[in-house]
Amino acid sequence: MNELLKLEPVFKQMIWGGNRMKDYFGYDIPGDDTGEAWVVSAHPQGDCRIREGRFAGKTLSWLWKEHRELFGGLEGDQFPLLVKIIDARDDLSIQVHPDDAYAGEKEGGALGKTECWYILDCKDQADIIVGHRAKSREKMREMIGEKRWNEFLNVRPIHPGDFFQINPGTVHAIKNGTLLIEIQQNSAITYRLYDYDRLSGGKPRELHLDKAMDVIRCPYEDAAGDRTTRHEEGYDHTRLISCDYYTVDKYDIQSSLSLNQDRPFLIVSVISGEGTLDKTAVKKGDHMILPCGYGTALLEGEMSIVVSGVPES
Ligand code: ZN
Repeated sequence: MNELLKLEPVFKQMIWGGNRMKDYFGYDIPGDDTGEAWVVSAHPQGDCRIREGRFAGKTLSWLWKEHRELFGGLEGDQFPLLVKIIDARDDLSIQVHPDDAYAGEKEGGALGKTECWYILDCKDQADIIVGHRAKSREKMREMIGEKRWNEFLNVRPIHPGDFFQINPGTVHAIKNGTLLIEIQQNSAITYRLYDYDRLSGGKPRELHLDKAMDVIRCPYEDAAGDRTTRHEEGYDHTRLISCDYYTVDKYDIQSSLSLNQDRPFLIVSVISGEGTLDKTAVKKGDHMILPCGYGTALLEGEMSIVVSGVPES
């Protein structure tokens, strides 16, 4: 049987970073303003290492290259998903991502980006930007051109436990006071639309208005699907999303859950509580991969986990 792969996060200091990571991971993180923790990543800008076991010290990109059997022999140059914890003390810039077709054509064969957010914690009266309110492309160009951001942007209140699917072409931004887990396609193509006219090192950060306006979908349609929770013996299960790139499920375990790993791989993120996974102690802040052929994982304890993977074929 292939063993559990526990990953070491890569922390990123950001000007907008907050101070909630310490509580989430349960240990001190060097430096202030840790905005992002890349918890499952094989990206060259933040390649996670395996914490223990047969592959201790190896990076996820190395495993992807040298031991593709752990991922069911999936094809592709790079590990397909990227999971981050994001802690925003300030507002992030307003952006949009292209789809695979546009990125492939305009960004030298790069992938587009679909991502989703599950809100772990937020301040009272926090909100987030998802979508816009222009009814036509013409109106969109007019509102953006005249910087009528309040009218254009779709600002929505958020609470812990909320979930948002950000399809390519969806205008979006995380706002201050928010801690969330993001699951996304492993890609970094971002078009910045507006940065609140802030200065960084004395000058404004670059915007990409033309490309952004090319890819924004108009009118905006909410991509949230049905998210009913089923109560089962020992746990509650909620399917958060199933799209072309990933599935994301949440399990709130009251006593135990038998998780059948029948996919190329599954990512397990413990977002609250603690317990065991096949007798290995796991707790909030732990992120791991159940490789191909792992079989059934027995999770015991009181904890919530987010499970993500590539779509069921
Ligand atoms: Zn994004």
